[in-house]
Amino acid sequence: MRAVDLIRRKRDSGELTREEINQLIGAYTRGDIPDYQMSAWLMAVVLRGMSGAEIAALTEAMLHSGQVLDFSGLPARKVDKHSTGGVGDKTSLIIAPIVAAGGLLVPMISGRGLGHTGGTLDKLESIPGFNVNLSLADFRRVLETCGCALIGQTAEIAPADKKIYALRDVTGTVESPALICASIMSKKLAEGIDAMVLDVKVGSGAFMKNDEDAALLAELMVETGKRMGKKVVALLTDMSQPLGCKAGNALEVAEAIELLNGGGPADLRELCLELAAWMLRLGERVQTVDEGKKLAWELVVSGRAREKFREIVRLQGGDSAVVDDPGLLPSARHHLDVPSPAGGYVVQTQCEQLGVACVVLGGGREKKEDKIDPAVGLAFHKRLGDPVQRGEPLCTLHYNSNARLEEAKRLVETAYRIEPQPPYELPPLVHRVIGA
Ligand code: URA
Repeated sequence: MRAVDLIRRKRDSGELTREEINQLIGAYTRGDIPDYQMSAWLMAVVLRGMSGAEIAALTEAMLHSGQVLDFSGLPARKVDKHSTGGVGDKTSLIIAPIVAAGGLLVPMISGRGLGHTGGTLDKLESIPGFNVNLSLADFRRVLETCGCALIGQTAEIAPADKKIYALRDVTGTVESPALICASIMSKKLAEGIDAMVLDVKVGSGAFMKNDEDAALLAELMVETGKRMGKKVVALLTDMSQPLGCKAGNALEVAEAIELLNGGGPADLRELCLELAAWMLRLGERVQTVDEGKKLAWELVVSGRAREKFREIVRLQGGDSAVVDDPGLLPSARHHLDVPSPAGGYVVQTQCEQLGVACVVLGGGREKKEDKIDPAVGLAFHKRLGDPVQRGEPLCTLHYNSNARLEEAKRLVETAYRIEPQPPYELPPLVHRVIGA
């Protein structure tokens, strides 16, 4: 196989065989194909797409690039959820402890920030000492001890995704249903789970900007999961504005703790309860989603989910004192309010731009080698439909360096559309459920 032939075939809309995809992924994972050739092939996939057979072959090649874990000896059902990525999406930090406190096992393998979206691993690493790079033996030990463990792809688990994900992040090759499906499903199927809830984001802050594209991605992933014998449900959820009031790693951990204490923004709470309920339902802990929501909320108000989070943080080497005092998390030295240029109502947000503003402040990566500043980010003061006066802050930037402050400020200023009349209707939090 010559990589250049496979790049040219995909460039010309041709189809690759299972064997060719296996060879390509194997060679790239071993380091036998350079980043520039893989980037060219990924871009060809973004532009030309993949057939169903190619997507299945890519998912399986990435899955078998490493070990597939087997937790079948553990007594409870293993469930997970995965989001396709958004702005302010800290749901994993909240849902994983809720569901583990409910008696299911949550072996969660997560990703880092991708493009303008945040990643669970980067958020967790803002907790001093938290180790997302556990060995597989430690992953199992933490899971057995407290019912949940949160790690990244290791050299053993879906290593192909680890390399390809980092490359896609900085080569403009994220927005492809085929690549997103293979990336997510290869990690998730390697986890040894029985069931999975997919949170497929849709809207201006998501990779899938409209319901049609999001539904196509959801169907691809549900089909792939079911083919591999897993119970999978996908929820299409709204990302036409940030989820909750904070974006940025440490800021989001603090907001997740607020929620685990029974507070936090209503939209974040509602989505967490919905997703947790589906996990509890697929894990057969409850009969219905409504029952699941009730149980999830009880686990929050009783403090059991918060205590589970504390246990996870401690077992993964983190400073669990942050649970009682989020002030121990890294915080930015400077704050700047971004005022509304006009009075009226917020009728639209270019949510992706808000995610990019967070990256520009240092909260995400623009090159593979970039170091993240865990303290920086955005605090949002207005949601769609809210009235706003001229000069009132729409958002506050938390920053440590002036270097790109003006750029971030401009991105935020132009991300909000303010009109004299309120919007005709507000988007629902859950657009659709697929695979139920
Ligand atoms: N999340 C992932 O794990 N992979 C993607 O490609 C997109 C979101």
